[in-house]
Amino acid sequence: MIRHLTLCALLLAGAGALAAEDKPATPTETPKIERLKPEQWCATHDVPKDKCTTCDRKLIPALKKAKDWCSEHEVAESLCVKCDPKAKDRLDAQRPAKDAK
Ligand SMILES: [Zn+2]
Ligand SMILES: [Zn+2]
Repeated sequence: MIRHLTLCALLLAGAGALAAEDKPATPTETPKIERLKPEQWCATHDVPKDKCTTCDRKLIPALKKAKDWCSEHEVAESLCVKCDPKAKDRLDAQRPAKDAK
């Protein structure tokens, strides 16, 4: 009986490994961040325009609704460097390349 169970476990493990090989490896932790266009970026406040509540207070209810609001620091949660130091990396990744003026 024990031998039988072991065989079953081995078969299951084998099937699992096969299924895993079918899919290409997709790291879940690194979503691709797209660089925004200069017109999508608020250069004054150094955040995406669609999340710049300093420029447009009307954005706040939408951000709150999207659960992307840090009430403690009054910024979009995804931009709140104080709560999440990684937010800075995300901003760096989204910030449009500066055009030489
Ligand atoms: Zn702004
Ligand atoms: Zn915060």
